Amino acid sequence: MEELKNIIRDIPDFPKKGIVFKDITTLLADGRSFHRMVDLIAHRYLGQKIDQVVGVEARGFILGSALAYKLGTGVTLVRKPGKLPYKTRRKTYELEYGTDTLEIHEDAFKPGARVIIADDLLATGGTMAAVLDLVEDLGAEVVECAFMAELEFLEGRKRLPEGKVYSLLQF
Ligand code: 5GP
Repeated sequence: MEELKNIIRDIPDFPKKGIVFKDITTLLADGRSFHRMVDLIAHRYLGQKIDQVVGVEARGFILGSALAYKLGTGVTLVRKPGKLPYKTRRKTYELEYGTDTLEIHEDAFKPGARVIIADDLLATGGTMAAVLDLVEDLGAEVVECAFMAELEFLEGRKRLPEGKVYSLLQF
């Protein structure tokens, strides 16, 4: 696991001064690491009844689609406003400065569908809390929220339901 952690690089002052951004593109770009990361996360869910994987724009699409392929499910997109072509539900949530909005197609799930939500990184948890609301409001059951990495010091998991958060790598 240390090998996978070490391939993620720190970018100081991105996207703004004082923030150290975890750049996971280096992990994605390395074939061996990318395969290992996807296999390790997928292994957790193989053999469970999973109906759908949800990917969160944009880096969550990468883990989400790879996981869905491995688990033999479809993948559902949660996107920034105005990108999805059919009727949507939307959720606006607070950021440090201002707000952000995410959308999902209103017919995304069959009733009671068991889903995994995938994103690259858990920071404060605000994004995933909003996605959880969108998914649950459409009648799906969230099995787990799966992340490649988690910034533990930001305590994002405290904003999410206990026992429903999994991260492969912790910083
Ligand atoms: P949160 O809502 O948990 O504070 O932030 C998580 C969202 O912002 C995720 O969708 C993630 O892609 C992005 N994010 C925040 N900080 C980082 C970071 O340091 N590295 C990466 N790769 N994504 C980040």
